[in-house]
Amino acid sequence: MKLKFQSPTGMHDILSEEQKYFKKIHDAVEEVAEFYGFKRIETPILEETDLFSRGIGLSTDVVKKQMFSFRTKGGDHLTMRPEGTASVIRAYLQNGMQSLPRPIKLWYFGPFFRYEKPQAGRFRQFWQFGLESIGEEGAVRDAEIVQVLYAILKKLRLKNIAIEVNSIGSKCCRPYYRKILVNYFKSRSSSLCANCQRRIKENPLRILDCKEEKCQRIVLQAPQTMDHLCRDCHQDFKEFLEFLDELELPYSLNPHLVRGLDYYGKSVFEIFSSSENKEEGQEEGSPALSKNALGGGGRYDGLAELLSTKKENDTPSTGAAMGIERIIGAMKKDKIKPSHKAKPQIFLAQLGGLAKRKTLKLMEEFRKARIPVLESLGRDSLRAQLSAADKAGAKYTLILGQKEALKGRIIIRYMSTGKQKEVDMEKIVKEMKKLCK
Ligand code: AMP
Repeated sequence: MKLKFQSPTGMHDILSEEQKYFKKIHDAVEEVAEFYGFKRIETPILEETDLFSRGIGLSTDVVKKQMFSFRTKGGDHLTMRPEGTASVIRAYLQNGMQSLPRPIKLWYFGPFFRYEKPQAGRFRQFWQFGLESIGEEGAVRDAEIVQVLYAILKKLRLKNIAIEVNSIGSKCCRPYYRKILVNYFKSRSSSLCANCQRRIKENPLRILDCKEEKCQRIVLQAPQTMDHLCRDCHQDFKEFLEFLDELELPYSLNPHLVRGLDYYGKSVFEIFSSSENKEEGQEEGSPALSKNALGGGGRYDGLAELLSTKKENDTPSTGAAMGIERIIGAMKKDKIKPSHKAKPQIFLAQLGGLAKRKTLKLMEEFRKARIPVLESLGRDSLRAQLSAADKAGAKYTLILGQKEALKGRIIIRYMSTGKQKEVDMEKIVKEMKKLCK
């Protein structure tokens, strides 16, 4: 039977089992990112639509097809953020972070929205964490981002991580590369998919990572960015690879890696888990059927200038974002369980109004002592409460009746034997601490 209300297409509730994965990932990101000097930032979920169309680029799929945009009652054009970098740079400019010592290193963790066709690993509301390193050039910063991402995935105990890297050049060499790429694709346009035929004019680099088989065949022979980098970009990319070598990170060159957003230049990278892409029953190491990246990023030196009214001084920057649901998918395929909290061993049972009030207070004392407890405050019958304690697997039930409550005493019931003993209410937390060690 169809329910009257369901969550919107491509948007999901995150129930308690899944929350454990979210928490584990969040804590790993926080620990590793903060160690490397990244500070947390949270930006609004809504931003002015122009921030994204300008920052990400009018001809990108994200801006053309995937934004949830609307007009407010006051007439503002707003968009639910499809990615984090443009917002973080907006916040950097708006909050005067230019005056801070560089680089300004920030991390975020939150929900993002893209109007996409929902499918495995692709949703309309999804979660990302991201890192941005703002205000310093040099390949060492790109390598640092990759290093932090890799360390986070390793901390989560993910196996089979692969990093793909490329350089897409910058203002000095990309226009020329773009020209020869357009010429190449124009001469073969009839063999490309309809989308890519349109991209020849609007966004020819994007053709390089089209997933259509017929386009991939054409792409195989296409001119590669790496052969057309200027001296500066070439040197920068070489240094980036040297840093990755030094860190012994498992990377490979992918000359067709371009990333989907216009603000990128120079080094770009994506991170994959062969486990996440492995279908059930597929052999280890066999080629992935559909290749979903866990995350990706790269350098975006011109973005601050593009988003600013003032001619900003140079703000060379680099960053990356990773998809939380995809990391969870990889963790599940690698059979990594999020650690769960110790199951409470104590069940609080009560009889009568006074006992109920005292139990509520007692719970607070257990919380302060960091001892987890279960309760059944809504129930009044002792038998029902004991049966609930039994079902929950509690080792001890603390029984507080009217009589005990008046005397300031409480009963400990050992669930396995049914034996009981009465102790002073004031000593119960200490006593249970000993028992639950
Ligand atoms: P992008 O900057 O578009 O490459 O996104 C970075 C990462 O976010 C991707 O590698 C995915 O892990 C994740 N991601 C992007 N879009 C979606 C989506 N629609 N659903 C789930 N995860 C996504």
